[in-house]
Amino acid sequence: MRFLVTGGAGFIGSALVNRLVSTGHEVRVLDDLSAGDPAALHPQAILTRGDVNDIPKLWTLLQGVDCVYHLAARVSVPESVLYPREYNAVNVGGTVSVLEAMRAVGVKRVVLSSSGAVYGEQPQQPLREDMPPDPRSPYAVSKLAAEYYLRTTGILWGIETVSLRIFNAYGPGQQLPAAHAPVIPQFLKHALRGGSLIIHGDGEQTRDYVYIDDVVDALIAAAAAPEVNRLVINVGSGVETSTNALVDLIGRVLQKELTPLHTNTQSGGVSQMQADLTLAQQKLGFQPKIRLDEGISRVLMLDPRFGKASP
Ligand code: NAD
Repeated sequence: MRFLVTGGAGFIGSALVNRLVSTGHEVRVLDDLSAGDPAALHPQAILTRGDVNDIPKLWTLLQGVDCVYHLAARVSVPESVLYPREYNAVNVGGTVSVLEAMRAVGVKRVVLSSSGAVYGEQPQQPLREDMPPDPRSPYAVSKLAAEYYLRTTGILWGIETVSLRIFNAYGPGQQLPAAHAPVIPQFLKHALRGGSLIIHGDGEQTRDYVYIDDVVDALIAAAAAPEVNRLVINVGSGVETSTNALVDLIGRVLQKELTPLHTNTQSGGVSQMQADLTLAQQKLGFQPKIRLDEGISRVLMLDPRFGKASP
């Protein structure tokens, strides 16, 4: 098949692109490289540097494409609180641009990388797709709006759509920005270099950490699955892990005693997140394979930034 992957030079995008290319597909990538790394891409991936709102570029790149993976987005929750207009322009506007261009060119299916963040604070866990969303940040609002645009314009214009609500993905190559870095690579960096592991609040807040290869399995299945049109489907590990338990686990994997610092500030996030995977199992045949301790060991093995990767 021929794919266009927007945001394909990013953490999830490059893992997806490389899997698609190595299994014989033709893959075009549109990425403005604001966060992505072209060096992460398989040499046979065809990278075009550009903005996801550039409609003429989308028209060109969509010619002959069977399925679009729409991953291009700004991805930091705290940053979205500071710059909601930008998050709206890229995450919502960009989604509408992709859909409009798909309508013009006549592309059949789009898979959106949405987020577990759309659930917000819920009275019950695990989180099921039929629970009313409660987005708590401009980022979460932008992802929910993108889901709604997908579904509604899909119905109006006859495009097959599926949104995957990805939970906390981690793995080799994950971005590690100076501000607001994702928790797993940040903790690994500090644990290895003797820095402080800072836990906001009591550390009992939980997240559902899902290994990148499992996320890619779900994305690949979504492009070809027969009964996913209009659906929103969770992609997680199905396991919740508190920040305190994550620090203990990293200490065990590294065989190092870690003493985190607790701050009085609130975590800023929701208190609990655990994905219900019933729908993902039914519709995508999805079964996460990599446990958190195994995934963290793989990051240490495969990611040169953590110093254990083979030369
Ligand atoms: P990432 O920042 O590594 O990837 C996003 C990519 O989009 C980057 O390569 C960036 O350069 C590109 N991009 C940003 N703005 C663009 C624009 N205007 N035009 C073209 N390209 C642009 O982040 P990621 O973690 O790989 O996330 C990929 C997608 O998955 C995003 O849509 C994100 O919302 C979603 N998601 C990620 C997670 C996670 O845990 N990583 C969880 C849920 C959802």
